[in-house]
Amino acid sequence: MFIGHYAPAFVGKTIAKTVPLWVLFAAVQLVDIGWGVFIATGVEHVRIIDGFTASNDFDLYDMPWTHSLLMAAIWAIVAGYVWSLIARSDKRTGGLVVGAAVFSHWLIDLLVHVPDLALFPGSEIKLGFGIWNNAPLAIGLELAFILIGMTLYVTSTTPKSTLGKVWPFVGGGLLIALYGVGMTVAPPPDMVAVGASSIGMYLIMCGIAAVFDATRDAQ
Ligand SMILES: [Zn+2]
Repeated sequence: MFIGHYAPAFVGKTIAKTVPLWVLFAAVQLVDIGWGVFIATGVEHVRIIDGFTASNDFDLYDMPWTHSLLMAAIWAIVAGYVWSLIARSDKRTGGLVVGAAVFSHWLIDLLVHVPDLALFPGSEIKLGFGIWNNAPLAIGLELAFILIGMTLYVTSTTPKSTLGKVWPFVGGGLLIALYGVGMTVAPPPDMVAVGASSIGMYLIMCGIAAVFDATRDAQ
């Protein structure tokens, strides 16, 4: 999934009000940001096969260090612990929510991926319910997740300015537009470009979240 991953970030912000939304946007995609680095550096591998699933062309046959169940749990624990160290207040809630946000990535991937999520590095058992093969359902889930998550966030925060009032529509529209671009543009030819372009996309998403942080009050 792509923008659906941000639903837990929006919900997390309603629970841990001191954690910036952009941090939660980075947390829910942390294992994919790691994937971008590992794909570009050859630690993990992907094959691009035209029409591999109805939703995208990625055969994600080797990503044990970012997308196995065990490693996703470890990334989540480490990220939550790091947040509890650097947070100035609300350390426990913030750490738990950051950790849960990181782990939510694996659970949402489990819904949509074809069986490519190993239990642990080296495991032959790979999981994935394959909703990507039903493109209308996959698109509907992405939109439902993001709209429900954003609605919960918007109704629990208040705008600080006019921009804060309009940003849910502009920022939400940008998220959906970037998802549309990702769905329609063919993947780049080499692995460095695949990794770099996906990390670039996640940074843009964090920028959109930072505008939410700057223009809406969570307290
Ligand atoms: Zn992923």
